[in-house]
Order: sequence, then structure tokens, then C-alpha cells
Amino acid sequence: MFEYEILAKEGRARTGIFHTPHGDLQTPVFAPVGTQATVKTLTPVHLEELGASLVLSNTYHLYLRPGDELVAAMGGLHNFMQWPKPMLTDSGGFQVFSLAQMRKIDDDGVTFKSHIDGSTHRFTPEKSIAIQENLGADIIMAFDECSDPNDRAYSQIAMDRTHRWAERSLDAKTRNDQALFGILQGGVDPELRAVSAAFIASLPFPGIAIGGLSVGESKDEMHAMLDVVTPLLPENKPRYLMGVGTPEDLINGVLRGIDIFDCVLPTRLARHHAAFSSEGRLNMMNASFARDPRPLDESCDCYTCRTFTRAYLRHLIMAKELLAGTLISIHNLRALIRLIEEIRSHISAGIFEKQAPVLLEKWSNNTQKSTKDD
Ligand SMILES: [Zn+2]
Repeated sequence: MFEYEILAKEGRARTGIFHTPHGDLQTPVFAPVGTQATVKTLTPVHLEELGASLVLSNTYHLYLRPGDELVAAMGGLHNFMQWPKPMLTDSGGFQVFSLAQMRKIDDDGVTFKSHIDGSTHRFTPEKSIAIQENLGADIIMAFDECSDPNDRAYSQIAMDRTHRWAERSLDAKTRNDQALFGILQGGVDPELRAVSAAFIASLPFPGIAIGGLSVGESKDEMHAMLDVVTPLLPENKPRYLMGVGTPEDLINGVLRGIDIFDCVLPTRLARHHAAFSSEGRLNMMNASFARDPRPLDESCDCYTCRTFTRAYLRHLIMAKELLAGTLISIHNLRALIRLIEEIRSHISAGIFEKQAPVLLEKWSNNTQKSTKDD
């Protein structure tokens, strides 16, 4: 269990299989985000049909509501949300640092107030692992501290703490049917990133996550950090780039040796009526679509594009019908999963490096940020 088999390599890009108790994951893989034990507006049937193989859920949110013990009593996350395939939970660290109020960090853990009702809680590495064991995902994360990437002094403190918390997370783990991934940090400092990669790689984690990127630094800085880090990581463990996943990020990440991605962007954009397409990002509210009989993207094989016109999608949006969010979410997730399938087949054929500029050009007008938050 939890072995990573590399099937093909091209430069630093790889395709492989990661074995989990709920089935084999083919990598590179893109994971839709199900923050509250649901990928917003979609059923598990939709997710299976559009080719999702891994779903992420959030420890911080599920701990606060409905509570990890309730989820455990209902048979764990897979049973609770009726998702039969592999699942991943984060450690809760990122949300504590980004969402919770009045947080106080010390070397032992973090005390914070719930963003829902203001009640006081405390996360430590041991608590995060206990919650994730109650939730029962196949892949779980060590508790880490994400710093402001441009504050080097704080990045060093947060990295040192993350290293000690990684060891404590390993010691706290009791279940042997969950793969615990270590997380490396280090802001945008190449020296700190190299130290963190070497340290986390030295611990007996079956997979390694790269945290603290896509949090305000530039794309060039993110790529530079990946260029420092992935050559220092063992080949035989999957690498997970946390919270990153525009079409351009998937292509650039795989080129630099990343295997697992997740991002809220496809479903968040869908709720704001924006669709990925090979013509660039489309705002489906646009009046020019009012009588457009074409599918959202003529090159797409998703249920939405096989079935409905742009005119119908725009009508649903103008009438504030909930189905609009569902149909555009199906399309946006399928677009990313289809892109990752294409990347896998290019690596198998040994033509990914040659095809990467073509793919980047095709998806280049989809990457500008149009929404800041939910
Ligand atoms: Zn589609």
C-alpha cells in the first residue's frame, strides 16, 4: 500500500500510479475541492462521470461543522459523502492561518477562534492527525505553518516549526490505512526551500507536499521555488503542490515534476458564471451568448457541452437558476481533468516537452484572475 510506481518519465515530468485503499490514482492528477464534504453543486455521480479520481476535503471546516467525531460515527468521510474513490484531507493549518480569527501561534500549536461562532479552539500536530484519522481520508497531511512568502525572517521561523510539527505528526499517527504526507515550506527563499525539501525528504513520509505557494508570490517565484525543490525530492514518492490549479499551473507544475494538484478555482469560477474554454475564459452572462446555439466549448466532451447551448446556460444565469452553477462546474472540472489526461498521454508518448508550449498557448487566456473570493 502507498507505493508510487512511475510508469513513464520525460525530463522532470512523470506519470505513475499511487496505490490507496480506495483504488489506484493515476498521476498527474487534479483533485476537485469538496470543502464541506461536497464539491459545491455536484453529486458524486457527476464527479465520477467527469473523470474525477481524487477529492479533497478540509479538516478545519469539518472539525468545526459537523465535527470529526460525527463524521467518524457516520462511517468516515467516504461513507458520509458517498464518494467511493480516493480522498485527501489537508491539515487545517492553512485555514487556521487564513480564516480563523484571533489566532495565537506558539511552538506547541495554534489557538484560534472559529470564523462561524467565535468559539475558541486549539490545533496541535497531534490534534490535526486525530481529526484526520476520524475523517478517514486515504491521504492526510502533516500540520504545518504557512508564512507570508515575502517575510524571510518569519518564513524561517514557520519552516523550523513546520519541521518539528512534521516529526510530531508522524509520531501521532495510529492508523496504517492512511498515507501521511509531509509538507515543506520556506516562503520564496531558495535556501530555505532547499533546507526544507531535504529535511522533509529525510523523514519516512510516503508522499511530499509543497506548501506556501500560490499565496501572493508571482508565478516566476513559484516556478523558481519548484525548480529548487523537486530535484531534491526522492523519485519514488508523489509530490503534491497544494492549492494550485489553473490550466497554466498544471502544465508548468508537471513540467517541474509535480504529480498532484488541487484548486477551488473551477467550481468557484462556475458560481461566478465564468467558464474555461479553448477560446479563453468566457463570461456566460455576456449578452452575445443570448442566441448562441453552440455548446460552451466545441472541443469539450463533458455532459454540459454534449447537451446544452450557450443560449440556455445564459438563460439559466439570468433567471438565477441553480442549475447554471452545476452545469458550468461540470464543464470547468472536466476541462482541467481532460487537460491532465492529455498531459499524461503526452508524457507516455515522450512528447510532453514539445507539446507544452502548444498547450500553454491554447489555455493562456484562461489564467487571469477574475475573482478574489467566494
Ligand atoms: Zn464542457
